[in-house]
Amino acid sequence: MVQKIGILTSGGDAPGMNNAIRAVVRSGLRHGLEVYGIYDGYKGLVEGNIVKMDRKSVSDIVNRGGTILRTARLREFKDPAVRQKGIEQLNKFGIEALVVIGGDGSYMGAKKLTEMGINCVGLPGTIDNDIASTDYTIGFDTCLNTICDCVDKIRDTTESHCRCSIIEVMGNHCGDLALFSGIAEGAEMILTPDHPIPEDEVINSLRRMREKDESKRAILIVSEKLFPDIKEFADKIARETGFDTRYNVLGHVQRGGAPSASDRVLAARMGAYAVDCLLEDKGGICIGLVNNKLVSYDIYEALSLPRDKHISMLRLIEILNS
Ligand code: ATP
Repeated sequence: MVQKIGILTSGGDAPGMNNAIRAVVRSGLRHGLEVYGIYDGYKGLVEGNIVKMDRKSVSDIVNRGGTILRTARLREFKDPAVRQKGIEQLNKFGIEALVVIGGDGSYMGAKKLTEMGINCVGLPGTIDNDIASTDYTIGFDTCLNTICDCVDKIRDTTESHCRCSIIEVMGNHCGDLALFSGIAEGAEMILTPDHPIPEDEVINSLRRMREKDESKRAILIVSEKLFPDIKEFADKIARETGFDTRYNVLGHVQRGGAPSASDRVLAARMGAYAVDCLLEDKGGICIGLVNNKLVSYDIYEALSLPRDKHISMLRLIEILNS
């Protein structure tokens, strides 16, 4: 049976990663394992930036955003020779298995390490909610709440000036942050990669709103990467609809802050479950929460699952805005 396990965080940081680290460390220790923290993701693995963790290493981190193990991206990890260096570092410490917290790229690294003899279990740590094998990723709920806090504030000034505010939110190529925050904020329009609205349609609708009611204000939530130049889009709306229009790119504020209670619980459950899987000698798998039950998938299978495009929510938006 496995006796020494490692843990690392990789890719973009997400609130709740610390709660997952804590759960892995405490659960591992409880089962009599030695647990090692690997700093700076796969980069730290290759460089041997590895320290033994104890109970106290994860004290007082439940309310901290980011990741105490820091994170990094290392493109070269796709090269088997570079991964081999990582395996040699693990061998030095006698680490036999790993928990990897990150997004789909980190999952690929975890799968390939498993194929090279180190059992890895992936946990979905990303604000984007872009992993199909789980209903929610660790960090999504916190980020969603941060976006809503920001939009609430922007709404005050938008209403006072009867403006149109365009708010660009993160999500990489996944529209969930825009879709969920748009519904939570009662946005007039929500534009995501899965549900884009043609520019003409956006402009015509806003023009009609403005013509019907001069005191109308409008909030538009748009996913990042949808418009190459959001300022140009805002200028066009201002020119063609009569709305005094402003744009806001929320940026990195969305990544930070204390994890929400929901993310803390999700991360704790997933972290402990990952250790259970390693104790059963499982590897090359990732953990998900599906219908509020913890499940595991083969990583390749998980990455080929179609993402939920939340079609039913489009009807909901239509009803709420009618
Ligand atoms: P986020 O969703 O926050 O971007 P991510 O885990 O998808 O997180 P990536 O930058 O795609 O972030 O991947 C993180 C790291 O995983 C990469 O820097 C690289 O070290 C490793 N990685 C990515 N793809 C592969 C791959 N195909 N094979 C081996 N390792 C990979």
